[in-house]
Amino acid sequence: MSHVSMKGTCLCGAVQYEINGTAERFYHCHCRRCRKATGTGHASNLLVTPLDSIQWTAGEALLRRYKVPEAERFFNCFCSQCGSPLPRVVPELDGVLIPAGSLDGEPPIQPQARIFWDSRAEWSCSDDAIPVYSEYP
Ligand SMILES: [Zn+2]
Ligand SMILES: [Zn+2]
Repeated sequence: MSHVSMKGTCLCGAVQYEINGTAERFYHCHCRRCRKATGTGHASNLLVTPLDSIQWTAGEALLRRYKVPEAERFFNCFCSQCGSPLPRVVPELDGVLIPAGSLDGEPPIQPQARIFWDSRAEWSCSDDAIPVYSEYP
């Protein structure tokens, strides 16, 4: 855990946010939903607590949310102008899940694990030494 104080933006730059909180964990998630939501081999999400550690500094009205109907809580948050994935507040985790690529800079912690490994696409890159979990750790 370490303190994180950073800014982030979407691809078009219309949505901007600031995060001030504690970086709890950083996972690559290979589940099918994350693959679909990102269009690539895995999502890379940083969990920052508490819930109110995020402040939208521009473009909050452009945010859209898509909840997978059959999912317990999986939803995607994105810019309606450019489609970039953006942070989502998750009350069950008392925190904010931040797509690491939306950050303008390097987060204070490195990826700690690959989760939902059993759902990965064969072609997904994985050439590192961090632990893997078939689902959640
Ligand atoms: Zn945008
Ligand atoms: Zn996932």
